[in-house]
Amino acid sequence: MNISESKRLFNEAQNFIPGGVNSPVRAFKAVGGNPLFIKKANGAYLYDEDGNQYIELINSWGPMILGHNHPMIREAVIKAMEEGTSFGAPTAKEVEIAELIVSMVPSVEKVRMVNSGTEATMSAIRVARGYTGRDKFIKMEGHYHGHGDSFLIAAGSGAMTMGDPDSPGVTKGTAKDTLLAPYNNLEAIEKLVEANRGEIAALILEPVPGNMGLCLPNEGYLQGLRDICTREGIVLIFDEVMTGFRLAKGGAQELFGVTPDMTTLGKIIGGGMPVGAYGGKKEIMEFVSPSGPVYQAGTLSGNPIAMAAGLTMLNHLNSHPEVYTRLNEIGQKLTDGIGKVNQELGLDYTINLLGSMYSLFFTNEEIHDFETAKKANTGMFGKYFQAMLHRGVYLAPSQFESLFLSTALTDELIETIVTAHKSSIQEIHKNQ
Ligand SMILES: *Cc1c(COP(=O)(O)O)cnc(C)c1O
Repeated sequence: MNISESKRLFNEAQNFIPGGVNSPVRAFKAVGGNPLFIKKANGAYLYDEDGNQYIELINSWGPMILGHNHPMIREAVIKAMEEGTSFGAPTAKEVEIAELIVSMVPSVEKVRMVNSGTEATMSAIRVARGYTGRDKFIKMEGHYHGHGDSFLIAAGSGAMTMGDPDSPGVTKGTAKDTLLAPYNNLEAIEKLVEANRGEIAALILEPVPGNMGLCLPNEGYLQGLRDICTREGIVLIFDEVMTGFRLAKGGAQELFGVTPDMTTLGKIIGGGMPVGAYGGKKEIMEFVSPSGPVYQAGTLSGNPIAMAAGLTMLNHLNSHPEVYTRLNEIGQKLTDGIGKVNQELGLDYTINLLGSMYSLFFTNEEIHDFETAKKANTGMFGKYFQAMLHRGVYLAPSQFESLFLSTALTDELIETIVTAHKSSIQEIHKNQ
C-alpha cells in the first residue's frame, strides 16, 4: 500500500499543527503508523491522498449514518449556500429543526442549537446548575462529554486512548465539583448522593457509552438512575451526542423507555456539518438566556448551511423508520460474521453490539464499565487495526471507541469485511 502522500502531509502537518491533527483521535498514536489524509468520501468508502480506497466503519465518528456524500444532503447544502452562508439573525430553518427535534426526542420540549457536542454538554451543565442552584455534578468513569474542563476527569475517547483521562490545565477548583462514579453501578450513585445530599445539580452520562468502547446498560440501570434523580431533585442528563438519532430516531431514551430531564445532541444532528444541541423540559430550558438568566450564546449557532444539512438528515430519519431496521440488520450480520470466524479459530473475544454500534474487544472478559474495558489488549488491537487497514478496511484507530455503521453497507460489503477480519485475525495470531 503506497501512502507516501499521507506521510509527506503528516510530516508537514507536524510542523504547524500540534501532533499534526486537529483532533487527537485522528492520530494513529495508539495503533502505530501514519494517519491517512483523506481526499474524499462516497457511500461506504474513504479515499486517501494516494488514491487508496477503504471501506470504513467510523463514518466521521457517527454523523454519516446514511453513508458519505449523500446526494440529498449535498443538494440541500448547495441550495442553502446560494442564499448566503451566515446571517447572525433568526431563520425559518431554525424553527423547523427545533420543532422536528422536539417531535423526535422524548425528553426535549425546548431546544437550543450550538456548534458542537462539547458546547452542548458544557451548556447543559451550566443550565442544570442555574436551575438547581447547586454546584456539583456526577459523571461516569470513561464517559466522554467533549473537552469542557469539568468533563476531563476520567474521560473516555481520545483522552483514554492517549493515556490522559485527567487533563492538565483543569484547575483543582473545577475538578472538585465533578463527582466520579463507575457506570452500571447504582449503589455507587446512592453513596455519592448520600455524601453530597442537596449539593448535586446534575447527573450526566452516555446512556449507552461508546467512548470506552461500546458498553451496554444493565437491566434496570437507566430507570434506577431516573428514580434516584427524581427523588433527589437532580437533573438527569443523557448525553446522546453519539446515540441520538442512531439507536432509534429518539435515541437511547426512546429505545430504553427512560426519559431524562435534559439531552445533549451532536454528530448526526448536523448531517456532517458542525452542529450540536441541548434541550429538555420547558421549565429547565426557560432558564436559558434571553428567556432566563443562564447565559449561553453563539455567533454561528443555527448557521443556515449547517441547519440545511441537519434538517435534511433528520427529516429523512424521521420519515424512514426502515433505516433503523436495516441498520440493526447490518450490525447483526456483521458481528455474527465476525463472531463466527472467531469461534472457528477458537477465539472468544468480546463483541458488544447495539443497533449500528459495536466494539470488538481483545479480551474474553465481559466489558461493562471503565475498569473492565481497560482489560482489553490494546497491543493486539493495534495489530488488528493495521492488518484490517492493509486489507482496505478502515477502523477507528483505538480499542476504546465504538464503530458506527451506515446504510451504505451492502450485504456484499459485509462479506468483504468479514473476510478481511478472518485473514487479519489469523495473521495477528500467527505472528504472536
Ligand atoms: C463526540 C461526543 C461529544 C463531543 O462532541 P464534539 O462535537 O466532538 O464536541 C460529547 N459527548 C459524546 C457522547 C460524544 O460522543
